[in-house]
Amino acid sequence: MAGLCECGRAIPPQVGPGRPRTKCEECSPTRPRNRGAKTRPAAVVRLPPPATERPQETPAAPGGLLGTTRAQLAAHGRDETPDGVLALTLAASIEQGTHTGSSLAALAREFRTVLAAAMEGTTPTADVIDGIFGSKTG
Ligand SMILES: [Zn+2]
Repeated sequence: MAGLCECGRAIPPQVGPGRPRTKCEECSPTRPRNRGAKTRPAAVVRLPPPATERPQETPAAPGGLLGTTRAQLAAHGRDETPDGVLALTLAASIEQGTHTGSSLAALAREFRTVLAAAMEGTTPTADVIDGIFGSKTG
């Protein structure tokens, strides 16, 4: 039963199943199918950030090569001599762990030499070098 909407417009003829229109297209727009249905934001599960609590390569553990070298040098006031500083630099480099194989071996040799020079004339309180690189006889 076509008629007029309350607004005065003609009610369009009913098409398809469903209740007959009582209002025109303007007053009662065709219901969009799912369009505009609230798309719920996907439940984003926030994962904890990647394991930063476990840095894989953290050098310079207390008491490591650098720490013990510095302690030994400082104990004899040699930590601020050129050789002492160089020894610390080498120790830090070794501790960084970026050297491998022959490169590390060469660095270690250099470190021993420099540290020995830095410590020359002192009485070692702790044998850092032997403790780390193995017993040195002689
Ligand atoms: Zn109307």
